[in-house]
Formats: sequence, C-alpha cells, structure tokens
Amino acid sequence: MEKSFAPIIEKINSANDIVLLVHENPDGDAVGSMIAFYRALTKIGKKVDGVIEKHPANCVFLTSTIGKEIKTFEEADLTKQYDLCIVLDCGNSERLNVAKDLFVNAKDTACIDHHETNFSFANANYIKPEAAATGELIFDLLNEMQIAIDTEIATALYSSIISDTGNFCHQNTTKRTFEIASSLMEYGIDVPKISYYMFNETRLNRLIFMGKILSKIEVFLDGKLSIICATQEDVDEFQIDKSELDGIVDYARYIKGVEVGILLKPRDGVYRLSMRSNGKVDLLEIAAKFNGGGHKYAAGGRVDTDSIEKAKEEVVKAFAEVL
Ligand code: 5GP
Ligand code: MN
Repeated sequence: MEKSFAPIIEKINSANDIVLLVHENPDGDAVGSMIAFYRALTKIGKKVDGVIEKHPANCVFLTSTIGKEIKTFEEADLTKQYDLCIVLDCGNSERLNVAKDLFVNAKDTACIDHHETNFSFANANYIKPEAAATGELIFDLLNEMQIAIDTEIATALYSSIISDTGNFCHQNTTKRTFEIASSLMEYGIDVPKISYYMFNETRLNRLIFMGKILSKIEVFLDGKLSIICATQEDVDEFQIDKSELDGIVDYARYIKGVEVGILLKPRDGVYRLSMRSNGKVDLLEIAAKFNGGGHKYAAGGRVDTDSIEKAKEEVVKAFAEVL
C-alpha cells in the first residue's frame, strides 16, 4: 500500500491543541524532528507543546536557541488532555516513558517514525523504515502541507539527519538523504557549526571518561564482537549524563575485523545495550531477545542484571549464534 500523510494531515487540521512526543533518552533525530515540526505547526497557527525527557548534551545548541519552547518532563503538565498527540521517532508507546500518559489521554493519536520495529501503535501512522531519519519524513510532510521551511526549521532537520546517519556515514544514508540535505542548505544553515555541536564538542571530563572505558575494551568471538563497558562507578566518577554516553558505541565497531560493536551502560539497576553492526549482521532479532528494537544495523536493548560480567556473558552468548 502506498504510504500517505493524508490521515495525519486531516487530524492536524481538525486539532487545536497538539502535543509532540519522542522516545525516551532522546537523540539528535528525536530533538531535531520535534523542534522542526513544533516550529512548523506553530507557524500555521496551531497551539503546540513539545515534551521531551531531557535535553541531550549534544543538542543544547538547539534546545537553548530555536527549541527554547520544548518542555522537559519536569516542566510539562503530564496530566493534560490534548486534542492530538503526535509521536515522532519512537517505535512503541513504552518508550515514551512517563509521557505515555499524554499519549493515552489524548483524544486522538498519530505517529511518524522510521523504526523497523514500529507496529503502528497510534490511530494514524506513517512508518517508513527506509528513511534514514525521522527528520527526512518531517521534511516530506512539511512540503506536502505546504509549510515554508526557514533557516531554523532547516537547521533542526539537518541536525536530525546528521544525527541518525552519523554525518552521512551509516548504511542508512541514501540518495534521498543527500537530496534533502542539499535542499536544506538552500536555507543558509551553518553546516560546520551543526556538525561540531552534534558530534565533536564535549566536556573535558567526558573525554577522560571515554579514555578510561575505551582502555578496557574487549574483543570476543575471533575478534568479530567488541564490547565497551561503562559501569555505574565509571559514570558516577565523571558525572556522566546518560545522553553523554551516545556516540561512544561507534568506537567498538571501528576495530578492524569487528562485525558488531557493543556498549553496555548502566540504567536504573540494569544494563542497557547499544549495538552497532558493520553491515553483515542484522541486529533486530538479537535486539528482540534483549527486549529492545531499533534498526537493522543500529539497535538497543536491555540485560536484566546489575552485574557487568553477567551482562557481558549474556551478550557474547547471544552473538555466538550469529557471528
Ligand atoms: P542506541 O544504541 O543509540 O540507544 O539505539 C540505537 C537505535 O535503536 C535508535 O534508533 C534507538 O531509537 C533504537 N532503540 C534503542 N533502544 C531501543 C528499545 O529498547 N526499543 C526500541 N524499539 N528501539 C530502541
Ligand atoms: Mn531516528
């Protein structure tokens, strides 16, 4: 069936009070898509709230400027009833965390997403796993709604796209990705500045923390699997915000001969798992075993233990079947 934005546009047209949500522990795609769509809907006179768990460290350049109106869970009224709740870049309602109440209580719901593991959980859904980023879908939607893109919206969309494609380096990058990026450049965005804030700028302590955990990296399964571990003690020692753990997993897959790179990171008494494949191994089946999901070559999950050794063991066991 041909995908169509029509049902979602209809819902937007008949709603006055709209709330936008994204997945917990938001990344650049989630934040960029939300800011772009927030600004676009505001432009056409809609009353909109954007609600996000926290502002990720590498997106503060957006949330402190063109995304100032976006509220964190702490600032938002999570009991409010909206006409329409639109979920962006999120494959299931559990990943909305405590903002799930806004989704459940809304009079109507829609979802725009590119996660392979999205099974259309809203009333109207536009799910396109071939899209590199949700930002690509927002770009298409704005064009269809004939909402004019401006420098701020273009900046947010460009941020979203470089975040999920790793600056056009991941396997999900397509000809369409470059076409959209090229169009966005027509609005005078500052490409080097956006790239710097998204990927390079870091706190000194985070860099030292990275040095520490990278020095303990291990390889398994004939050098095809590598695991970086960040324990609760490491995170506490350097006061690392959970958003500052993003991007580190890639180092694991840079090792010559490695097919899958893993980062194990502590979260609420268990270990979260970030997985990146260099293209031979499809991660989705394994992500499902770890109660997670995502994309073929970039996925997440959870190991239900507070022991880093046990978590590592479980991961190696699971990958021994496919590597
Ligand atoms: P990351 O390793 O960066 O946390 O996640 C990689 C990709 O998988 C991202 O697109 C993220 O949204 C998705 N992802 C991570 N954890 C989960 C999860 O528990 N469930 C689902 N459905 N997707 C996840
Ligand atoms: Mn995304």
